[in-house]
Amino acid sequence: MNEEQFVSKNFRNFYAKSDLSVPAISQREFGVGDFGKKISRRHLSFQSDSELNTYLREQAPLFISYSLAYYEFPERSPMSSKSFLGADLIYEFDADDLKTECKQRHDSWSCPKCEGTGKGSLDNCPKCGTPVKKEQWFCPECLDATRKQSFVLLDLLENDLGLDKGISLNFSGNAGYHIHLRGDSVKDLSHEARIELLDYLTAKGLDFAKQGFYESEKTFFCPYPKQAKGWGKRLLVLLEKLLGEGDSSKIAAFGGISVKKAKELLANKEQVLAAMREKGILYSISGRKNKQFWESILSHLVSSNTLDIDRQTSADIRKIIRVPDTLHGGTGLLAKSFSREEFKEFDPLSDTVVFSDESVKVFINKSPKIYLKGNWFGPFNEEEAKLPLYAAIYLVAKRRANLVG
Ligand SMILES: [Zn+2]
Ligand SMILES: [Zn+2]
Repeated sequence: MNEEQFVSKNFRNFYAKSDLSVPAISQREFGVGDFGKKISRRHLSFQSDSELNTYLREQAPLFISYSLAYYEFPERSPMSSKSFLGADLIYEFDADDLKTECKQRHDSWSCPKCEGTGKGSLDNCPKCGTPVKKEQWFCPECLDATRKQSFVLLDLLENDLGLDKGISLNFSGNAGYHIHLRGDSVKDLSHEARIELLDYLTAKGLDFAKQGFYESEKTFFCPYPKQAKGWGKRLLVLLEKLLGEGDSSKIAAFGGISVKKAKELLANKEQVLAAMREKGILYSISGRKNKQFWESILSHLVSSNTLDIDRQTSADIRKIIRVPDTLHGGTGLLAKSFSREEFKEFDPLSDTVVFSDESVKVFINKSPKIYLKGNWFGPFNEEEAKLPLYAAIYLVAKRRANLVG
């Protein structure tokens, strides 16, 4: 039995018991993938859940994705002949888009040109500038960063945009989370409207004056907390937090003023906060740079609190994406769906493990320390190990380990 057959056999065992249900299944295009290839065939369609479940039981694909779009003829190709009927919205948060410190511990790179190698995550070789080959891993720390982003997004969707219906959440099966929005409020949104939503969510081109932050007659105003909405409200909260931290060098750096002036501002913290809350006025720093100072502070607060949403993906209505509650062929983990309540306590590298503890012997080429189902394994470097089936599948699916014997 080779590695692909090993993963496939175990997937088949899992799908023998699974019973999926997909909303509007007959109008979606499906795609499946093989060992090491997420999508190798597209333009598949299923008339019913039971047809899909039979397919999963018989074929046990290593990857299965479906379209966000609804089509009259999902099985037709080219795309233009499918007859587009509308589409869900999707937002993806992947840990590989985030700059977390843990990457220094678990990621590495190698340069195909000068053969340079190193720890951490970067795009181009620091010696010769060639795009590097990345070795990416995901741990509780970086996945938790994607969860935090997901919560910010949910807050924006529900509280700012009133899109609180038809949200469903799932783990991607590898690097992060997917947030699906379905239903009439989103189905007919045009491409332009989807871009506009994205701009709002990522605060692209945010106009501070429109949010209630503006200068008039040498006074810099902010919105009243009770009247503030959306980004205006969010910025007030962030401003209070920044002042509360009392870090004068941070305020100086953000606002482009001297540490001495920042200290002056913080010495009056209580009055500054009271004026914000009660009068809708931001403290005037001495000198002429008041407007510049507050706008620079606001810009920093926006850029350090905005979401890393992949713009390309979120606006692409032709995209196909992992079917929730199916297995990811690159990890063997379940792209598990969960409720908003469950999300708070969700452990993505434990709650998505579906395979047993049965011991399997593998030869591991190279792996950092990995966390799965509450246990740490490795690091491994060109060595044999006996691992529980779920960890063996994870490393084999990631193509970092081979079967022994
Ligand atoms: Zn190089
Ligand atoms: Zn990590």
